[in-house]
Amino acid sequence: MPHSHADRPVGAHAPVAGGLATASLRYATAIGAEAIQVFVTNPRAWALSPGDPGQDRELREHVAATGMPVFVHAPYLINVGSPDPVTRERSAGLLAHSLSRCAAIGGRGVVVHAGSAIEPDRAAGLRRARETLLPVLAAIPADGPDLLIEPMAGQGQMLCATIADLGPYLDALDWHPRAGLCLDTCHLFAAGHDLTAADGVAGALAELAGTAPGRLRLVHANDAKDPCGSRRDRHENIGTGQIGTAPFAELLHHPDTSGIPFVVETPGGQEGHARDVAAVKRLRDRSGPDGNGKPALATRRDLAGKKS
Ligand SMILES: [Zn+2]
Ligand SMILES: [Zn+2]
Repeated sequence: MPHSHADRPVGAHAPVAGGLATASLRYATAIGAEAIQVFVTNPRAWALSPGDPGQDRELREHVAATGMPVFVHAPYLINVGSPDPVTRERSAGLLAHSLSRCAAIGGRGVVVHAGSAIEPDRAAGLRRARETLLPVLAAIPADGPDLLIEPMAGQGQMLCATIADLGPYLDALDWHPRAGLCLDTCHLFAAGHDLTAADGVAGALAELAGTAPGRLRLVHANDAKDPCGSRRDRHENIGTGQIGTAPFAELLHHPDTSGIPFVVETPGGQEGHARDVAAVKRLRDRSGPDGNGKPALATRRDLAGKKS
């Protein structure tokens, strides 16, 4: 199998002001993005948005022609574990809406934060997440996008922060086939996964393979402003935070991320994204996780050989 750069498309969260397709595709070109993530409604509101059919068609046709992976990030107000039934009902409605808008633009998945129990405890929160999400998952058509659960940094009563938390969470969803995962490097690091340790990345991916095999659909590649275990969710530009470049290089060369898009959600606007997309591509395209001249393909083959 030839080594293909498109195997791990690299991109960024793209703005949509000025037209969903027009703005996001112009942005992708400007920063060299091979994948994009967008909001399809106001990320800080409950309001639904019908979208512009012309823009939807343009993006959908671009995706069909180029194969560019497109993802939708659901609004931040959504909390499927909330003790407030009104919040849960609105969350389900907005997720269903986001999934249908995602389908209209040819997107692969809708990213949603795993949610918080708030009170009284995680078990109650997981029951509410189940009640809220199972009908949403059941309504996804066969050719529709997946719902991608994103673990958070671990503040408050988060239902899912560490990789170990994914087991009970997906259990609560009966391992629904349309439930995928979006892992954010900043969140994992903040939740206590020390990606900078010698076996940090390999260990986390091995744990993921044991806990939720075959579920990873997207990586949010963000460096972290705060130290490992901080439980603080503050993204930093690639290589300039507490994670540094080496763990990203390792992640980009690990066989378990084959076929997975990497999207940055880093500060600094378009310039920051352009720099970070270029940085992640460089780490991906240089040979070997440590830049030691060992071809990435050989690394993958070695690892595959060890498995069998
Ligand atoms: Zn993220
Ligand atoms: Zn974050």
